[in-house]
Amino acid sequence: MVRRIAVLGATGSIGASTLDVIQRHPDRYRPVVLAANRSVDEMERLCRLHVPDHAVMGDPEAAHALAEKLKDLTSTEVSSGAAVLDQLVSASFVDTVVAGIVGFAGLRATLSAAGAGKTILLANKEALVSAGGLFMDAVKRGGATLLPVDSEHNAMHQCLPTDASGRSHMANVEKIILTASGGPFRGRTRASLMDVTPDEACAHPNWAMGQKISVDSATLANKGLELAEACWLFDRTPDQIDIVVHPQSIVHSMIRYCDGSVLAQLGQPDMRTPIAYCLGWPDRVAAGVAPLDLVSTGRLDFEAPDMTAFPCLALAKQAIMQPGGMCVFSAANEVAVAAFLAREIRFTEIDVVIANALEAVNFSEPQSLDAVQALDNEARSAAAETVAQIASLTERQEKER
Ligand code: NAD
Ligand code: MG
Repeated sequence: MVRRIAVLGATGSIGASTLDVIQRHPDRYRPVVLAANRSVDEMERLCRLHVPDHAVMGDPEAAHALAEKLKDLTSTEVSSGAAVLDQLVSASFVDTVVAGIVGFAGLRATLSAAGAGKTILLANKEALVSAGGLFMDAVKRGGATLLPVDSEHNAMHQCLPTDASGRSHMANVEKIILTASGGPFRGRTRASLMDVTPDEACAHPNWAMGQKISVDSATLANKGLELAEACWLFDRTPDQIDIVVHPQSIVHSMIRYCDGSVLAQLGQPDMRTPIAYCLGWPDRVAAGVAPLDLVSTGRLDFEAPDMTAFPCLALAKQAIMQPGGMCVFSAANEVAVAAFLAREIRFTEIDVVIANALEAVNFSEPQSLDAVQALDNEARSAAAETVAQIASLTERQEKER
């Protein structure tokens, strides 16, 4: 049986890695739905290569332009909009949904896939972290299978004990050890980070990723999101998870058992490995990744994260303890990262925007998708206010100079 796959975020970094693995196994997988936001030319290229039944653009104008370009490709139907995507990910002709949209924008379609009982390959951590209990309830009620693509959580999934049906459980697990690369600014002081540029922040030493997650890795906000992600996926509290910086990104995370054994998953820093694991699960399929050469790697180092230079991690640890806090954290972070990439605020002001939003918004655990959306909106407004204040202060200071 060929598995029919919907790739959400097809034009992104996760989308490209997913389609690369899929293409290696035409006898096993077929991409039947490709979805993206605005990248018309890249989507045209992907549609001609993979010939999906459906191509969905978030932006209606982009969908119109894509439909024009694909007039001759009559087997691909082009459409746009969140409601269409909901229908497609829930349709009987889709078996597996790859949640590779970046940010809160990916939540609605991923929740629909969960409700429809699909197998979900989750890369879009912001969706899980923002909706938390609501997301996990949808998975349970819909009878969906949730497999983590995020390399650390994928490693945990690989190292955890499993029951007869291959599902992981937590018996005899004492600690989850979440590894972090430390990002491009590991070892730097906070003062030295004042003037770093978006290009410097996006130049990750080990991973090639989209811009947003690259900045998140540089601030360690990504590790905060991943701490919350691990808590939801594996039903843990933050004190049951240790964070260890491992600059080589070869050990992708570890599980410590009650007898002192520590199991680790090692691999190249290449997302095709965790994606292939999820696509193949409970079997294994080839990913096209070069074999790991430990002799050339030479050494594996570990150190404690620097919470002073990178306050986003400490902020996330606080937010996780307050129901609804991570929805505010994640939304404010998205606004702050966009402002940093647009050079409206400094790198060291990203955490200020998040901290202010956590102070300003009166939050509690959202009980419905509407409530999550309302909380996300409120956090975005609070964050935008801080961004505007910073921008006007900077403008005044520049004039005075
Ligand atoms: P990216 O920026 O490279 O790609 C984002 C994709 O989302 C694009 O295809 C874009 O068109 C699509 N998109 C954005 N807004 C949309 C909307 N409103 N409607 C439809 N599509 C929309 O991002 P990425 O690096 O591939 O990351 C995707 C997700 O995976 C993020 O949540 C990230 O945290 C997570 N993740 C990525 C990596 C990685 O190696 N890149 C690793 C772990 C987790
Ligand atoms: Mg990760």
